[in-house]
Amino acid sequence: MTLPAIEIPVYEVKLPTLNKTVKYKPYTVKEEKTLLMAIESNDEKQIFETSLRCCDSCILDDSVKIEELSVLDLELLMISIRSKSVGETVDVRVTCEECNHTLDIKADITKMKVKKKGKPKDTIMLDETYGVKLKLPSIDSVYDSLVNKTDELTSTLLACIDFVYDDETTYSFKDYTEEEKTDFIEKMTVENVKKINELFIDKLPSNCIDLSFTCPSCGKENKKTMENLLDFFI
Ligand SMILES: [Zn+2]
Repeated sequence: MTLPAIEIPVYEVKLPTLNKTVKYKPYTVKEEKTLLMAIESNDEKQIFETSLRCCDSCILDDSVKIEELSVLDLELLMISIRSKSVGETVDVRVTCEECNHTLDIKADITKMKVKKKGKPKDTIMLDETYGVKLKLPSIDSVYDSLVNKTDELTSTLLACIDFVYDDETTYSFKDYTEEEKTDFIEKMTVENVKKINELFIDKLPSNCIDLSFTCPSCGKENKKTMENLLDFFI
């Protein structure tokens, strides 16, 4: 007699950028093993690739293309999968803002929420002739910046520019080589970059978890907000 197959529970999460509710299952022991092996490699690219593949195999919706998701959606999806696979808390190292005492606390990842920071302006003129149309960064671009080891500002800009335009033409950014795109960005003025940062990048919504803890050393009540939650998948 063959062993019975265990029924795997199915959960749902609503992805805000995609504006779609997606079904997923927790990852299995086999998938966890692959993840742990990737962590042992200490190779950021491999960890990211394996996390993506694992996440992909947990989604029960073929119409969702994981590499096309926004970082915001991917984070939400990964944290949801993680909470149903390993557990709903993660250990976080925090520092007291009063006395610098450090301690480990447990953060409840199910309390994650989307923080909106205003309305990003996605069309910005760079000079009298040229403007840029901006988009939410996708997973592909996060991956590219890991592989190409570009600095953070350049990789953010690379990830966000959808196309460049003037009165007559639109230049779709994805049609150009990494070198051409980087060159374009490096020729932008400091003022241009400041404008893009203030009007768009700083206003992008992000996932965050609010933490509060009482410092065991001085008694100070601390409040902190965690962002960049992708690291908590594993
Ligand atoms: Zn303290």
